[in-house]
Amino acid sequence: MSYPPVRPVCAHPGTDFPEAGKKSLGGPTLGEMNRPEPAQPGTTLDAARPAAGLRAQVAALESELIAFRRDLHRHPELGRQEFRTTGLLRDRLLEEGLKPRVLPGGTGLLVDLVPPGTAPGTEFLAFRADIDALPIDDAKTDVPYRSTVPGRAHACGHDVHTSVVLGTGLVLAQALRGGELRRPVRLVFQPAEEVMPGGALDVIKAGGMDGVGRIFAVHCDPKVEVGRIALRTGAITSACDRLVLHLDGPGGHTARPHLTTDLVTAIARMAADLPGALARRMDPRWGVSLVWGRIASGSAPNVIPQHAELEGTVRCLELAGWREAPDLLHELIAKLAETYRAKWTLDYHRGVPPVVNEADSVTLLDEAMNARFGGDGVQVVEGTEQSLGGEDFSWYLEHAPGALARLGVRAPGEATVRDLHQGRFDVDERAIGIGVELFSALALDGDRD
Ligand SMILES: [Zn+2]
Ligand SMILES: [Zn+2]
Repeated sequence: MSYPPVRPVCAHPGTDFPEAGKKSLGGPTLGEMNRPEPAQPGTTLDAARPAAGLRAQVAALESELIAFRRDLHRHPELGRQEFRTTGLLRDRLLEEGLKPRVLPGGTGLLVDLVPPGTAPGTEFLAFRADIDALPIDDAKTDVPYRSTVPGRAHACGHDVHTSVVLGTGLVLAQALRGGELRRPVRLVFQPAEEVMPGGALDVIKAGGMDGVGRIFAVHCDPKVEVGRIALRTGAITSACDRLVLHLDGPGGHTARPHLTTDLVTAIARMAADLPGALARRMDPRWGVSLVWGRIASGSAPNVIPQHAELEGTVRCLELAGWREAPDLLHELIAKLAETYRAKWTLDYHRGVPPVVNEADSVTLLDEAMNARFGGDGVQVVEGTEQSLGGEDFSWYLEHAPGALARLGVRAPGEATVRDLHQGRFDVDERAIGIGVELFSALALDGDRD
């Protein structure tokens, strides 16, 4: 499979970067990283010197993976429309001798790598990538891999995540052929992360989490410099749900509210009282926040209406709060509605829970990073802040422990942060090789579960 030649991106003075047509990086890819001399491309993993062997393998793949990322970047596809992306992944994985399974919706795929002689019931270690793009214009003008599709851009870095998990698959396929993979691994290429309901639910419905013992993902972080991985134990993203409350009554004359149900007063009391009541029933450390965005009722000053609506979002920093919020809201609404004799229905739409990183999984990431990159310029940043954004990786963590790590993608010395979901978002592509090495190390090092 061939891709257009690779040219430097996010280049800055002093950075060593692959030149067009160069097969392997063949040397340090990041000035700050004092990497050892790579072994010859094609070298199999060397048990005595695993870091050097794996590094050489990743280095040999790096220019292909950067070209792959640029191809996706030029051709971004929205959630559940990622047919081209899925086809490229399928073809490359087939070429590597793997057996990808496309999800029932026609986009996204799963790939299992199972060493011969694996005991039945041995749990998979899973790596997840999201493959969809955003419905915005690519505002970059100075790069050859700018989106070719108006109103579509890979502005959340999912092209990078996809390249990282593909690269991991290529490394592990080689290890499988060489008898060096000692645990079953599943690669999850998930569609539709940017929409609700998210594609994680499609993957789970298709059995993607069956038999998975632990799952990892990375997400690009433009605030973190390339060469760094940022970790956090506990919640790293937030929950966001949406709700619509409907109140109904017989309506009537404003002269006689006692003979009917005063819906305007009732909905106003709900709007004013529910956020505080919910907050007082929950641990403040959970950071639950109910905020209304729309209220509607009535048509005339002297008519009590028959219908009223209130719409808002519940955001939450902790999983415990996200789990309790719907039941508590039902209880509180029932009590207030009874006071005003209003009929009520609540449409509570689950968005995503927070991504809650499991402590052991974070330790595994930390150890893998230190073992691979210790003293090598790549740093782990501990205790990175929790984002108020949502990420549907959280749904997988309802089925198995795991962790999402932030992958530094900011070019050293770049003054402005090109934030996620902005048209000018871009990455320092050396992050791809770091992600591949991290995931490959997790799958290949030791016999940890
Ligand atoms: Zn996004
Ligand atoms: Zn994203």
